[in-house]
Amino acid sequence: MSDATKEAAPKPAQKLPPYKLTSRLTHPEDSLVRVGQFAIGGPEFIVMAGPCSVEHDPQMLGTAWDVKLGGAHILRGGAFKPRSSPYSFQGLAEEGLKMLSKARELTGLSIVTEVMDSTDIDLVESYADILQVGARNSQNFSLLKRLSKSRKPVLLKRGLMNTVEEYLCSAEYLLAGGNDQVILCERGIRTFETSTRNTLDLSSVLAIKERTHLPVIVDPSHASGKAHYVPSLSRAALAVGADGLMIEVHCSPETALCDGEESLTPETFRELMRSLASLAPHFGRQISTVAPATPNLAEGQK
Ligand code: PEP
Ligand code: MN
Repeated sequence: MSDATKEAAPKPAQKLPPYKLTSRLTHPEDSLVRVGQFAIGGPEFIVMAGPCSVEHDPQMLGTAWDVKLGGAHILRGGAFKPRSSPYSFQGLAEEGLKMLSKARELTGLSIVTEVMDSTDIDLVESYADILQVGARNSQNFSLLKRLSKSRKPVLLKRGLMNTVEEYLCSAEYLLAGGNDQVILCERGIRTFETSTRNTLDLSSVLAIKERTHLPVIVDPSHASGKAHYVPSLSRAALAVGADGLMIEVHCSPETALCDGEESLTPETFRELMRSLASLAPHFGRQISTVAPATPNLAEGQK
């Protein structure tokens, strides 16, 4: 074949993966998911923070203000809790959604909260800004099909035992049904390792970014199960190219009804946000909600 013929020869069509609409092959540009005044998947590194569960008004409102003042973009909190034991706190259901909604009203933060069952979608949708699908429901295809008809963005967590391909197929259920406002979340997978609650698969962020156009955030709280691991893992998530984080914060972790051991105190969260904001520009990101550190003039005069 002459050089000219070689150039003119059409490239063989790349075979589409089973997650067609989710694939970068059908949508090469990064997708942005807009929530309130923020876009997830762009230069702003988005932090969703708040307690594991909504417990009562003072806890929810106190923590909402703590994360807002620390620089969080979005408030999290579970009203429907997927607990391993049926005897553990199961969440406050609609009462909890009302508390979240009050916290949104007062702080101006958008809210993300989990919907566990198709029968609760209308209710949760009427309060939430982002509908969360938990790890245990990541392959609940009837729930995903129903959420594909929602006009609200969906935060889809990776299932404990799912490969990246299976995970992206779950996302495809949402896109195939017409909802392309999907945010992915790596929250650790189940492995033989027991030193952490789950094994944070940070390289999945690279695999997901390579294969799809959807934004992906990292949840270092459920991944590690240890509050003191969360700051370093959060910085690692920023460095590996995640679009943001989901972090558990509690105004009083020692009294939390759920996941206190992995929840940051408001002070630790504030420190972490400052550190992330100063690192973000090195990775092509920004955190506009954290005021730049002001030089300490007294220090300079020493
Ligand atoms: C949560 O974020 O509240 C939660 C239950 O997480 P996961 O589904 O990742 O376990
Ligand atoms: Mn939790």
